[in-house]
Amino acid sequence: MKRRLFITLLLAAVISCTGYGKDIVGQSDVLPSASTAKITSGTAKVQSETTSTTKAAASATTSAANIETTATTTAETPTQAPTAAQSNEAAPAGGGAAAQQPAQQQEQPQQSAPAPSYTPSNTTAPSPNDSNYGAAPTVYNYDGMTYIQGVLIANKSYSLPAGFAPGLDQTCLNQFYKLQNAASQQGLNIWLSSGYRSYDYQAQIYNNYVARDGQAAADTYSARPGYSEHQTGLAIDVNQIDDSFIGTPEAVWLENHCHEYGFILRYPQGKQDITGYKYESWHIRYVGTDMSYAIHNSGLTLEEYFGIDSYYH
Ligand SMILES: [Zn+2]
Repeated sequence: MKRRLFITLLLAAVISCTGYGKDIVGQSDVLPSASTAKITSGTAKVQSETTSTTKAAASATTSAANIETTATTTAETPTQAPTAAQSNEAAPAGGGAAAQQPAQQQEQPQQSAPAPSYTPSNTTAPSPNDSNYGAAPTVYNYDGMTYIQGVLIANKSYSLPAGFAPGLDQTCLNQFYKLQNAASQQGLNIWLSSGYRSYDYQAQIYNNYVARDGQAAADTYSARPGYSEHQTGLAIDVNQIDDSFIGTPEAVWLENHCHEYGFILRYPQGKQDITGYKYESWHIRYVGTDMSYAIHNSGLTLEEYFGIDSYYH
């Protein structure tokens, strides 16, 4: 009995040992190559996905920045109903990017790279042609500036930081050239007299006017530094920058057609109490064609259209 049991056990041990050995050999033969293949294909996949992941991360970061700003704005101005409404509008874009990312992370959980750090820039103003432009909340602050429906506001109530120096916006300039060409086809001569003006340059201009006419008078036609629309890089003065331009064929054409190129006549006649400035037939502001048509067709000033004021607080 004992002997049979021993043999049986020995046999079982040998079989089990051989089987085990086979398994080990099998595993050591197969596993490394299989896992190598897996890793290789995984790496290829990772590489091919890195670009889209980075894009998604960047877009998510931007959305996050927007949402964060919205939250800040909401916190600062809890009575702003449009802000709350707009954050709903912004949600699909942010939500889309967010929904996309977890799916990718599930495929490559080890690829949850840290989101690139967001560095706000105060040298580049978002323009109506930026891809993120449409998702902008109704009212939000960005680097100390105020945007309403994507339009950077600069008037007596809404200032710009001294360091904000974007230069003349290229889209604005290109659109001005189109406007200029269209006018010239009507035999009209419209030229750019003053475009972008830095904070310091505006300070010089304003101080000269104050010295000449006194501050009260200067404030009716010249902006204090940090309050000039010319510092946005989105405003242009054409031709003679004085009342002699009023009523010229160029001025009449400009008033009736500048919106076709994305501009609005910023300081119309009889609106001084609203815009804060006397009639300036020569000053146009680029807002993009969606907005310029809407504002032009409304017959309102920018202030009235957005429901904001313009006076030094
Ligand atoms: Zn101007």
